[in-house]
Amino acid sequence: MSRTFDIAVTGAGIVGAACALEFAQEGLRVAVIERDTVAGGATGAAMGHIVVMDDSPAQFALTTFAQSLWSELAPALPASAEYYRPGTIWIASDDSEMAEVRRKYDAFTSTGIPCQLLDSAALAEVEPNLRRPLPGGLLVTNDAVLHPQRAAEYLISAAQQLGAQLITGHAVTTASHSRMSLDNGEILHAAHIINAAGALAPSITSGIPVRKRKGHLILTDPYPGYARHQLVELGYLRSAHASEADSVAFNVQPRLSGHLLIGSSRQYGNDDPALDQHILDAMLERAAFFLPGLPALKTVRSWTGFRAATPDKLPLIGPTEDSTVLLATGHEGLGITTSLATARLLADHLLGRPSAIPIDPYLPARITSLQETP
Ligand SMILES: Cc1cc2nc3c(=O)[nH]c(=O)nc-3n(C[C@H](O)[C@H](O)[C@H](O)COP(=O)(O)OP(=O)(O)OC[C@H]3O[C@@H](n4cnc5c(N)ncnc54)[C@H](O)[C@@H]3O)c2cc1C
Repeated sequence: MSRTFDIAVTGAGIVGAACALEFAQEGLRVAVIERDTVAGGATGAAMGHIVVMDDSPAQFALTTFAQSLWSELAPALPASAEYYRPGTIWIASDDSEMAEVRRKYDAFTSTGIPCQLLDSAALAEVEPNLRRPLPGGLLVTNDAVLHPQRAAEYLISAAQQLGAQLITGHAVTTASHSRMSLDNGEILHAAHIINAAGALAPSITSGIPVRKRKGHLILTDPYPGYARHQLVELGYLRSAHASEADSVAFNVQPRLSGHLLIGSSRQYGNDDPALDQHILDAMLERAAFFLPGLPALKTVRSWTGFRAATPDKLPLIGPTEDSTVLLATGHEGLGITTSLATARLLADHLLGRPSAIPIDPYLPARITSLQETP
């Protein structure tokens, strides 16, 4: 059997789902091939923090653009996607981190990102369950939270309503030169193929510098109001940047449902999805440092997922040497945030439209230099 499409997307995580909707909205014939279920990969394991990050100008441009796209989409999202905007508080635990809070404040305000400096008393007032005293923090008011799995399901179903075809339960085995083969023997032809297979993307496009980076999350019973914002320690950035060592950082998210999600951990070189008790213990210990009452809360579930990490911490978005195959992977811990922007950049690129931000920093053309990075 053989079918023909304009766009064939591998993977129905949030990135593949966003691509499917973006291209279906352009009236193109879209197929999405998912070996498992919609959002069964990293998307289903993620926190769903829609966050502006400024580790690099390219990361800042992508996350800012992405956040504006989520704001535009928000009215269309179903209630089950639990989208809301509690804002993020970046918490300083010492004076040097407070200096970083001030730097972030200056950088964000100078580029129009709404935020507020909180001194020690103001922080304690807006988040009474935090330990006292803490030096202060930065409240970034537009940051949002959503249920990633429900959001991805919405994107896929919106794409299907526009004619996109979803094929689940079958893996893509090869994809090149406008031809995709599935593990049931089916061949799909498509003018363009998008590899949105997350951490498994190298199994379809060999040689791309994407590595699995394991993460754990812990869910509590509902405690409405226990935390009023997404609470992240500034040390989270150190954890996200840590080169090879295992790391944990305090990151707590109040879901619209009242549940708290406690993160987060990062591990390279551990491809086993099983829970690592010592990592969970370290996460809870770190969380209890910032929220001393937290050990009394009831936790109900823990799980792991695999981020798709690149050496320069930027995603791979755009054509490969085989110009019929495009990458949409390598989003590490920001793929929920940047999914919509990834899809828009790819569509702008393929349709020859101007983009809101340049695609250049994310193009796979930089792979050769990445591979030379020690
Ligand atoms: C613990 C944790 C917390 C996170 N928190 C956040 C957060 O708060 N905010 C944020 O922005 N990001 C967060 N992330 C990152 C985010 O989850 C990912 O960046 C994002 O989900 C990537 O989406 P994706 O669609 O590229 O990949 P995935 O969701 O992994 O989807 C890829 C899909 O491709 C399918 N697939 C793979 N190979 C094949 C094949 N050969 N054939 C067919 N299908 C295939 C897989 O089954 C999978 O469904 C977190 C990640 C983790 C692990």
